[in-house]
Amino acid sequence: MTTILPDTLAPLHADMRSWRRDIHAHPELGFQESRTAALVADKLQALGLQVTRGVGKTGVVGTLRAGKSNRAIGFRADMDALPIAEANTFEHRSRHAGVMHACGHDGHTAMLLGAAHHLARTKHFDGVVHFIFQPAEEGLGGAKAMVDDGLFERFPCEAIFGMHNRPSLAVGRFAVKSGPMMAGGAFFDIAVAGKGTHGARPETGVDAALAAAQIAVALQTIVARNVAPVDTAVLSVTQIHAGDAYNVIPQTARLGGTVRAFSREVMALVEASMRRVAEHTAAALGATATLDFRALFAPTVNDPKEAEYAALICTELVGADKVVRNPPLIMASEDFSFMLERVPGCYINIGNGSSESGCEVHNPAYDFNDDALPLGAAFFARLAERRLAPA
Ligand SMILES: [Zn+2]
Ligand SMILES: [Zn+2]
Repeated sequence: MTTILPDTLAPLHADMRSWRRDIHAHPELGFQESRTAALVADKLQALGLQVTRGVGKTGVVGTLRAGKSNRAIGFRADMDALPIAEANTFEHRSRHAGVMHACGHDGHTAMLLGAAHHLARTKHFDGVVHFIFQPAEEGLGGAKAMVDDGLFERFPCEAIFGMHNRPSLAVGRFAVKSGPMMAGGAFFDIAVAGKGTHGARPETGVDAALAAAQIAVALQTIVARNVAPVDTAVLSVTQIHAGDAYNVIPQTARLGGTVRAFSREVMALVEASMRRVAEHTAAALGATATLDFRALFAPTVNDPKEAEYAALICTELVGADKVVRNPPLIMASEDFSFMLERVPGCYINIGNGSSESGCEVHNPAYDFNDDALPLGAAFFARLAERRLAPA
């Protein structure tokens, strides 16, 4: 086995930085990543990889083989940007009004391209590496689109790995969590129907606004009384809409919000409880309520064995003292979860913070920290060389 360290990737650092800044300057929203996907596919093709374009609309898969083994692993990066107007004024700022790489997916793409370059040039492994470049991570279902497009039937993998930058973690560090790591997420709407009437004659109608208010309060009993205290869930009613006149009791009302949980079971329990509470609370007041519950993200759950493997690689790269092994659960969601439901693997965090700047992702002043590029690429490269070490 070779002993690849970030230094080994140093010659690629300038290349990765220029790819990263080029992608940053040309951000594209989910399923519109045509320029980014072409850039990725062209570079992989130039390296001699077998390239498949258009997987899950704008996704790209590059396949690299070395030796004789058919053992295969997958590495995944996301390519999409966010509908945010960039506040930065540096040279590589967004050229596209209202669109910005505010989550560092430009960096994720550049790191995985760096690993592909290293592995394609050195080929110190025996097997198959699939480089998976995913579209539309930011809430539009890009991972699911690739899975539904036959990703793992066409490119079977024994394990998959991905990473996200974390500005609150210093460059040079990793965080690896076994088991549940990030929450599953759902959005919901509740349509309430009553009987509209004059504001001074409530006895002739059914007040949909009052029913919506009662439902909003009653929903808060679910996390408190139905979800087990050792489990974790959030139910937030973030919208209540009803009425537009002072003297009209509204006929309809609508509530909306979000639910987060760390297992499919808890998410299903919350959904069933919401349906019961909404329908029966409305019925108690003579109204009706209909729940529309849309589970958008699965919980991100790392396979314990693959998490240990990822942590081993991180430890070899930076030392055990720089690998956070029990980071807190993250309430945000990540759609790599849909790939992890199909193939065991691990999602890790890579430090992206510097001492003076802790700008969080999704902020208009965010920028990926280029200092992290060699380490991220080294993680993938070292993992492939160790996992698929020639006999
Ligand atoms: Zn994001
Ligand atoms: Zn992200």
